[in-house]
Amino acid sequence: MSSQADRLSGTGVGRFAPSTTGLAHPGTLLAALLGWLDARAASARYLLRLEDLDPERCRPAWAEQMVRDLAWLGLDFDETVVQSAHRGAHEAALDRLAADGHLYPCACSRADLRARGTPTPDGGVRYLGTCRGRPLPAAGWRASQEPLRARLPSGWLGLADEAGRDLSQDPERVFGDPIVRRRDGAIAYQLGTPVDDAAAGVTRVVRGHDLAASTATQVRLQELLGLPRPAYRHHFLLLEERGAKLAKLHGSVDVEQLRAGLDAPALVGFLAQLAGLRPKAEPTTPTELLDDFRWSRVAVRDVVVRWDGKQLHGRAAHD
Ligand code: GLU
Repeated sequence: MSSQADRLSGTGVGRFAPSTTGLAHPGTLLAALLGWLDARAASARYLLRLEDLDPERCRPAWAEQMVRDLAWLGLDFDETVVQSAHRGAHEAALDRLAADGHLYPCACSRADLRARGTPTPDGGVRYLGTCRGRPLPAAGWRASQEPLRARLPSGWLGLADEAGRDLSQDPERVFGDPIVRRRDGAIAYQLGTPVDDAAAGVTRVVRGHDLAASTATQVRLQELLGLPRPAYRHHFLLLEERGAKLAKLHGSVDVEQLRAGLDAPALVGFLAQLAGLRPKAEPTTPTELLDDFRWSRVAVRDVVVRWDGKQLHGRAAHD
């Protein structure tokens, strides 16, 4: 269903899907707020999916704190789910890929991939399909100790998001076949996301444009699995002074530091100003922002942010 149809009929499901790899930072909170405004403006349901599939990087304590911080900010969710609880659906997707001949074990080491692959737009390495001909163990994919990849059909995928961003790509040519189950047994992001979006009936995916290049791969997996395609919208990012995306891992200002200096309406005011929704950073609430929310008013260019201990300062990033 298109998002315009959602608006007319007041249906649809949106979601916010943060990885629970650390404390929220301003970029996390901005993404949650924009997703909330998008869903609520369309009278859609809004779900919180705590993405905790990476056992090395995710912690339950960060999931719990994410829930508390989003509630503190004034965002409500119709349902909160933990992604690791969906193992059954993820395994069913792997069963289907295996049954259709799209799943194979990959024996390439990281060094092999780096030596043979070509660069991808996100700084990774394209997988050349070296192991495509390798069979799964006779006992099935569960018996494999190796990473599993999905064999993607090659071919151009014409795709644009709701912001008009051209996402067209042949994902097999750009990234190669994605890992769908890692060597340590964890389900990979590229598989978990489309499976969970479909299981929850998500019709509108709002997320930062750092994930835009992954969308074609996820759409290809939806096609292989017979899953519906939500409408996508990718928004601007908050950047560090030195140009990198704000990230939990880079030690950017986190929600604890923000909460020590600001109350929730003040922080929402700063986020609204950074997003272009308000000319000045005056205290406000998500509900107040909903009154005149339109995507056409949201900033398009990335914003460089700086926290001085009391205020969030933003300036448009240079292209
Ligand atoms: N968990 C991903 C992240 O925090 C986002 C997933 C998504 O929105 O598709 O970057």
